[in-house]
Amino acid sequence: MNDYKIGLSGTSTRELLRLRAEVAARFAADGRVMAGRVVGERRACGKPNCSKCGPGLAGHGPYRYFLPRRGGRGKAVYVPAALVGEVEGYTRAGAAWWDALELLTSINAELLRRRELD
Ligand SMILES: [Zn+2]
Repeated sequence: MNDYKIGLSGTSTRELLRLRAEVAARFAADGRVMAGRVVGERRACGKPNCSKCGPGLAGHGPYRYFLPRRGGRGKAVYVPAALVGEVEGYTRAGAAWWDALELLTSINAELLRRRELD
């Protein structure tokens, strides 16, 4: 999709409008999108003599959390292991929406430059 970002000025208005409609059609999704990412975190439990914690050991986890694109640490939501794949699918779809939004913005900015924004 990034290919389109380069050289929009050399693309005909007709092609820009066709491309815009094509990208816009991708927004007609089913709502299963999340803007953000899934991160993993390992933790030490603090119990003495734990077989997973201590110097040189990995600790417990990783525990997965969904981090919203706009939200920061406090907005993290725990993701149960059984749902990690599904949530990652939501975030991939969310990333595609952001890409599409950026592309539509580029197309419309070019149309604005040409005074052909409708
Ligand atoms: Zn432990």
